[in-house]
Amino acid sequence: MVLSMSLVVQKYGGTSVGTVDRIKDIAGRIAAVTRDNHRIVVVVSAMNHETDRLMMLAHEISAQPDARELDLLLSSGERTTIALVAMMLKELGVKAQSFTGRQVGIFTNSAHTKARIERVVADRITAALEHKFVPIVAGFQGINEQSDVTTLGRGGSDLTAIALAASLHADRCEIYTDVDGVYTADPRIVPTAKRLDCISYEEMLEMASLGAKVLQDRAVVFAANHQVRIVVKSSFANGSGTKVIKEHKGMERNAVSGVTYDRNQAKVTLVGVPDTPGIAARIFDPVAQANIIVDMIIQNIGQDAMTDVSFTVTKDDVSRAIEVMNCVAQEIHAKRVEVTRDIAKVSLVGVGMRAHSGVAAKMFVVMANEGINIMMISTSEIKISCVIEEKYVETAVELLHREFELDKAVR
Ligand code: ADP
Ligand code: ASP
Ligand code: MG
Repeated sequence: MVLSMSLVVQKYGGTSVGTVDRIKDIAGRIAAVTRDNHRIVVVVSAMNHETDRLMMLAHEISAQPDARELDLLLSSGERTTIALVAMMLKELGVKAQSFTGRQVGIFTNSAHTKARIERVVADRITAALEHKFVPIVAGFQGINEQSDVTTLGRGGSDLTAIALAASLHADRCEIYTDVDGVYTADPRIVPTAKRLDCISYEEMLEMASLGAKVLQDRAVVFAANHQVRIVVKSSFANGSGTKVIKEHKGMERNAVSGVTYDRNQAKVTLVGVPDTPGIAARIFDPVAQANIIVDMIIQNIGQDAMTDVSFTVTKDDVSRAIEVMNCVAQEIHAKRVEVTRDIAKVSLVGVGMRAHSGVAAKMFVVMANEGINIMMISTSEIKISCVIEEKYVETAVELLHREFELDKAVR
């Protein structure tokens, strides 16, 4: 009997649980699902801005807080929310039980603040469902082999929800947030942006990786690998939202599906590097060892057997990247390390680019006409990214959205 009932994992983000009134509202939605006889597992984030607040506290104490302690601190935001949501459901007469990442059995590696999920056990969740409880799970957290608390990277509650949906073979994973789906651009920057009815995993992954934080990029990878059906919806309104699905031919209508931006970028340049074989490995191996993710890389054409190497990292990683580069600069006898923080990345994404030419050229013309200097470029089959000065981000996103007629997109 229980086995034939559908199972849905619902995830509520920070603004959706931001106040006691909001918690009351979503508890009402959860109660309605149980009345319809569906089984439901709920994953919640920390209350609005709570993770940022905890992060700031840690940074008041240390410029580089100890990663193990930071993870324990950050995980407390989600613990508060699960207890409050479970209490609220009980007030509404719904049987509910809260679970931390440890209690669920979300096992990760030890890469604190960006730990990777290694396995999900979820026996207690299955048992709670069998006893007709609604499990309320803390997003964003797991434990490593030593039972230390780890966190899954910013936006990681999406990953918790999708990993649980995969492990429990849920019918679908509903991501509830403060916008009613995935748009052609951030609707807060581009008021004419259009909601997409559906988007492929591949496009969603590019958009998420390139700054559209409506879904965490790692969560999208996990969903694609395990074929988890995702729908992104608003917790403030009813509507069909955006389905994230497997790509099919009918999807290739526009060259570009969306414009994204990412301000969380910084450029590090190693000036006066000896232009000899093996130098790139000597620069980037220590960066990888320090668990720092490098995005774009450019090497200037060398003169007098010297060259400059620039690369981008997230602003969160920039202090560590500078530390590593200062050591590398000494070892390889480079002249100096320079850092530019006021940059951003603007990107066009679309599976349709595979079949269209001239997208990059059109993007560069838009930038040129506005006098926006492009510092770095990177492309793949389905995306083009440019690094520009941060002050031009909003203008660039709006102009590109208009130029590629995304305000007219119909899907
Ligand atoms: P939550 O706290 O629910 O996880 P997030 O703040 O992480 O919510 O993600 C939702 C936000 O993502 C929206 O408020 C919106 O401003 C932003 N966003 C950026 N790009 C897009 C896009 N292309 N479509 C929809 N939302 C976007
Ligand atoms: N609370 C965490 C964050 O703000 C995780 C999440 O919201 O998904 O990044
Ligand atoms: Mg989020």
